Amino acid sequence: MAVAAPGQLNLDEFPSWGSRGVDCFEKLEQIGEGTYGQVYMAKETETNEIVALKKIRMDNEREGFPITAIREIKILKKLHHQNVIQLKEIVTSPGACAGLTPSSLNCEFAGPDRDEQGKPIDGNKYKGSIYMVFEYMDHDLTGLADRPGMRFTVPQIKCYMKQLLTGLHYCHVNQVLHRDIKGSNLLIDNEGNLKLADFGLARSFSSDHNGNLTNRVITLWYRPPELLLGSTRYGPAVDMWSVGCIFAELLNGKPILPGKNEPEQLTKIFELCGTPDELIWPGVTKMPWYNNFKPPRVLKRKVKDAFKHFDRHALDLLERMLTLDPSQV
Ligand code: ADP
Ligand code: MG
Repeated sequence: MAVAAPGQLNLDEFPSWGSRGVDCFEKLEQIGEGTYGQVYMAKETETNEIVALKKIRMDNEREGFPITAIREIKILKKLHHQNVIQLKEIVTSPGACAGLTPSSLNCEFAGPDRDEQGKPIDGNKYKGSIYMVFEYMDHDLTGLADRPGMRFTVPQIKCYMKQLLTGLHYCHVNQVLHRDIKGSNLLIDNEGNLKLADFGLARSFSSDHNGNLTNRVITLWYRPPELLLGSTRYGPAVDMWSVGCIFAELLNGKPILPGKNEPEQLTKIFELCGTPDELIWPGVTKMPWYNNFKPPRVLKRKVKDAFKHFDRHALDLLERMLTLDPSQV
């Protein structure tokens, strides 16, 4: 069996995925104080390289290898960019890897519970654990911003925003929607490099936007109005809304639209961005959930007012990012 050399990529078609064991790494500490899924800082024992190990959640083991993890791996496998986290390898703990084959990661729509011949894989084969091995990053943006007394300077914000937009542009031209842009999924190292991470909700899209996609994606505070209004045909604009929320949050020092539930989230959006009508957002009244969430009264857009302390150029950019009609983004 072909095995990747220590520190080398193990993503080729032929060497079996997960051919190395997690015992090639020494776990140093759990990252994120256990509030997230299990992500560990670890050291490759032979090279001493520091990596992050993300344990794949087997929430529904009977279904076999989770489709979300397959998507995440498949998508990360094709993305190579300095502002997108690099997936280096997949490793397993004993007893885990029997059904994880390159072909199970290569077929677009086959469920995870089938082997190369199309026969169902016995869920029992997934004992043990499977980990994604990533390059290690020192911080995530939320962790950094939450440090007592932390306030980013304008040059820092510009630097992070440029990298965020460059990484996201790369994803979008490669027809990948991230669908969970938020601070905890933006990783930053001590040199100030920013990389997009957590592609657990990402998916490929076609540029005609005809796909029937789920609208239950993106963490509520960063979720755009078209998803809250039930749209299932959407595109890169969904991520741009989240970027706008992050941008304003960085300048503002706190989240700008912290809704407690979906109706409240839409209300907060309308209070800031005004209530949409057919003039500013053609087609809005035909959105699936428009009638459920129809604003009770007309509100005027007040982005400029709410953030009048922002620099003029920053405000101009923010206005564009927080455009209600996704086709105008
Ligand atoms: P999820 O949110 O699905 O649990 P993430 O991939 O976002 O998974 O990882 C959870 C947290 O672990 C991140 O918010 C970040 O703090 C940390 N983390 C993830 N990947 C890395 C990495 N490569 N380097 C350092 N920390 C990481
Ligand atoms: Mg995350």
